[in-house]
Amino acid sequence: MTIYEQLGVPRIINACGTVTRLGGAPMPAAVLDAFIEGAGHWVSLEQLQAAASKRIAGHTGTEAALVTSGAAAALTLAAAAIMTDHDLGRMERLPQTSGYANEFIMAREQRSGYDHAVRAAGATLVEVGFNEIVSNAGVRRTETWEYEAAIGERTAGILYCFSRHSAPPLNEVIEMARGHSLPVIVDAAGELPPRSNLRDIPASGADLVAFSGGKAIRGPQSTGVLCGRRRWISAAALQMLDMDDHFQLWDPPAELIDRKKLTGHPRHGIGRGLKVSKEEIVALLVALDLFAGGAYDSERVEQRERLQTIVDQLQKTTIECQIRDPDDGESWPTLELAVPQRDPQAAFALCRQLRNGTPPIYVGHGRLHEGILVVNPLCIDRDDARLVADQIVAIQSLV
Ligand SMILES: *Cc1c(COP(=O)(O)O)cnc(C)c1O
Repeated sequence: MTIYEQLGVPRIINACGTVTRLGGAPMPAAVLDAFIEGAGHWVSLEQLQAAASKRIAGHTGTEAALVTSGAAAALTLAAAAIMTDHDLGRMERLPQTSGYANEFIMAREQRSGYDHAVRAAGATLVEVGFNEIVSNAGVRRTETWEYEAAIGERTAGILYCFSRHSAPPLNEVIEMARGHSLPVIVDAAGELPPRSNLRDIPASGADLVAFSGGKAIRGPQSTGVLCGRRRWISAAALQMLDMDDHFQLWDPPAELIDRKKLTGHPRHGIGRGLKVSKEEIVALLVALDLFAGGAYDSERVEQRERLQTIVDQLQKTTIECQIRDPDDGESWPTLELAVPQRDPQAAFALCRQLRNGTPPIYVGHGRLHEGILVVNPLCIDRDDARLVADQIVAIQSLV
């Protein structure tokens, strides 16, 4: 019996990938070893975060960094840091932000449930642009002048959600923001691989960039990275770390926290509930080293074989199979399963039946409206792949 079965929680097959709701990415043995070793010793969290800052900065080319409890937490801390800087009164009052700049400008088309993390710090979002292509009522995406036209007294910064397809280009938005001395926060949580993004996105000049630690990096599910300018990282660290000490005794590492900017000792900040443990920090650092060094690339061949097993078994069904294998040498392949006539209702039905099976199987559900289920090989082994195919064959034989 697994530790989960002892709790009465059934095992599932996660053919969905790194999604949080199903437990995230598989941690390599070296990452788990780091977690266990880290648990056996005690260190100052400030000093550990300072060392992590240096290590992450080396990978990202930034001035400083912080290990956070996920990319969402990184976004909350980023917004908090920019709104308060090192002002004790402002830090103390968050998420109350009346009386100073608390607005972040964001393209309407880039909004998602994750921007709740920025609002959680007390920030208000000001939307610009439209979503005319989705509404089929126009031909243009958001343009940089629209951000500029929205800047006012209450503007604290710009929030940009990065993807390969995001518009307007990040560097254009940053250049405009520079002209107004406004910081830019970039949500790049899921934009790895390619690992070059670890450097390229910060190199665009963004002030703060958030990455997930529990997606392709394969660190603990509850970790993330906030990297960027030292000034903001210092303000973010102050609002996340435990502050229960005496000011006259407190000697934080200068490379992480700029004590000289403080007129007193802050109490626990808005990020105190977003703490990260020493074990999680060292595990994330090992995972980041592995990811940045390309250690996961060699798994792609086996992942493709796993998907091919499913394709072979589904030959006899009406499901149309297509393996997508990105040629970047880094991204994992995926398998698209199209139901007959690409009927969305049939796709939802198949997805539901797979979830209701024994064991429950979860496949990628982002394209059901196109009649497509997606199998991600990251969290399944050969036997799981066979089970996925068996279940689909069984369900198909009933219809
Ligand atoms: C996954 C994701 C997040 C949240 O990341 P966590 O590390 O799970 O907190 C935020 N923004 C985007 C765009 C994401 O894809």
